[in-house]
Amino acid sequence: MIQGKGHPKDAFLRSERLPHIWCPGCGIGIVLNAYLNALALSGIPREEVVLISGIGCTARLPGYANADSYHTTHGRSIAFATGMKIANPKLHISLISGDGDLFNIGGNHIMHAARRNIDLNVICVNNFNYGMTGGQHGSTTPAGSVTASSPYGNLEQSFNLPYMMKAMGASYVSRWTALHVRQLTRSIAKSFTVRGFSFIEVLSVCPPNFGKDNGFADAYAQMQYFREHCEIDNNADLHNAGVTFSGDRPIILGDFYHKTRPTFHDIEREIIERVRVDR
Ligand code: SF4
Repeated sequence: MIQGKGHPKDAFLRSERLPHIWCPGCGIGIVLNAYLNALALSGIPREEVVLISGIGCTARLPGYANADSYHTTHGRSIAFATGMKIANPKLHISLISGDGDLFNIGGNHIMHAARRNIDLNVICVNNFNYGMTGGQHGSTTPAGSVTASSPYGNLEQSFNLPYMMKAMGASYVSRWTALHVRQLTRSIAKSFTVRGFSFIEVLSVCPPNFGKDNGFADAYAQMQYFREHCEIDNNADLHNAGVTFSGDRPIILGDFYHKTRPTFHDIEREIIERVRVDR
């Protein structure tokens, strides 16, 4: 920051909290930048915006946004956000958290929020491991990947998040990487206009943990992998969109799915109205 000049994103950023806590080369700061740009584009008044996260490296992101933000308990951000949205449906609520928080600890909650079509914007930053606690494997770690808790290679097949979220009932599903900043910004801006549960996966880089044990000497090396191995296909068969770093098939990105269906609030309002008329 230039002394006395402030930060160009001062309106949306709590710049007094800088420097941030993320490691050099981490992709989460890129997601913060994309989110704040999308928020500026959306024109949504700041007092209607709420950011919620659970626990982990990504979960620190809402603390840097100059809006109401809540850093909740591990895996329970969806439950927290659901309650807030039901209490005040006018709020634009974004959940920004990591793969471990949303799909390991909180996996049950996210499935049901998508099924209910709660009007939330969920951004999952997937770094393929538990970064904050030293790089353990989880449900998004690609099979064969080496982590602190899978030193001989991960034995398990990983979740394919866009496929899963579409199957669970999400209204909007997309996936980008920390390299695809313009597309990611557009998808986040679009998610603000979607009524219903929107889900954006951001494939990110974690150089000191996942990166170093899986052939990526630094953040640049993994970004280069994304550049060379990602393929954009908005009409992809999501069944085949699992992530691998084996190099034998592309990583599929895109603005995959958008279908409007009644939200939880729409149905709730209809029932309340019907009960009122019947009385
Ligand atoms: S441990 Fe990984 S995810 Fe966490 S801040 Fe560092 S680089 Fe980012």
